[in-house]
Amino acid sequence: MFSEKFLKRLIKTNGVTVLTGAGISAESGVPTFRGKDGLWKNRDVMQMATQQTLKSDPELFWEFYNWRRELLKTVKPNLGHYALVDLEKQFYDFNLITQNVDNLHFIAGNTKVLELHGNISKTICNECGHEAEENEDVSGAVPVCSQCGGVMRPGVVLFGESLPQKALSDAQEAAATCEVFFSIGTSAVVEPAASLPYIAKGNGAYLIEINTERTPLSEHADEVIIGKAGETLPYLIMALDRY
Ligand code: NAD
Repeated sequence: MFSEKFLKRLIKTNGVTVLTGAGISAESGVPTFRGKDGLWKNRDVMQMATQQTLKSDPELFWEFYNWRRELLKTVKPNLGHYALVDLEKQFYDFNLITQNVDNLHFIAGNTKVLELHGNISKTICNECGHEAEENEDVSGAVPVCSQCGGVMRPGVVLFGESLPQKALSDAQEAAATCEVFFSIGTSAVVEPAASLPYIAKGNGAYLIEINTERTPLSEHADEVIIGKAGETLPYLIMALDRY
């Protein structure tokens, strides 16, 4: 599955950076935003996750996010997530960048996670930025800020918004300085995360993609593994153990 050339290079490497997308959580039962998973109640989910919907129809916006939160309470990390915990333990300079908001990398046990799109379990005020404490009641149909009375929102980056600057610059640094870069379960089209593999490759990293299908990144990768993250990543850990 993985080439000998790649495995030999990986074991001599210090700096490994991994970028994950919705695909790594698909085997846990978290829907991606593409294809047949891209609809919720016959509505485009990408349209749901916008400031426009929050402002024009906060009840609908929160119905969607409460549905996603309830769904996430029922899911667990899969073998792909756990393999990345093993990978973190094996490399001195390891960085995990995720576009996912589902918290599953932390639940699995990764400690160094850069969340580019935030975390759905957090609730913040859309007006003043106040983050709700754990004991604060945010269960209403449209939660309201205890500080300013503004409408609250989940702590995720909505489509069309900018990414958290610190997480993005740390991710760009991790991409620029690694020796091996993995792009796993991402359609590799949502910017600015989509540029990270190119930053890594431009700085001499070996670029490896794991996905169930080819993406626009595939032709630029040094190695493309077509397969499920939950099957291919445990295989990689086993292969590394042989060396
Ligand atoms: P995406 O939905 O655009 O693409 C998912 C990719 O994963 C596809 O290329 C698909 O072929 C691949 N894939 C599906 N199952 C796979 C598997 N088992 N193993 C490996 N690959 C698999 O996801 P994206 O690139 O992350 O971008 C969509 C945006 O939506 C992101 O910004 C993210 O914040 C958000 N999102 C997050 C979650 C989550 O937190 N779990 C879920 C859906 C969407």
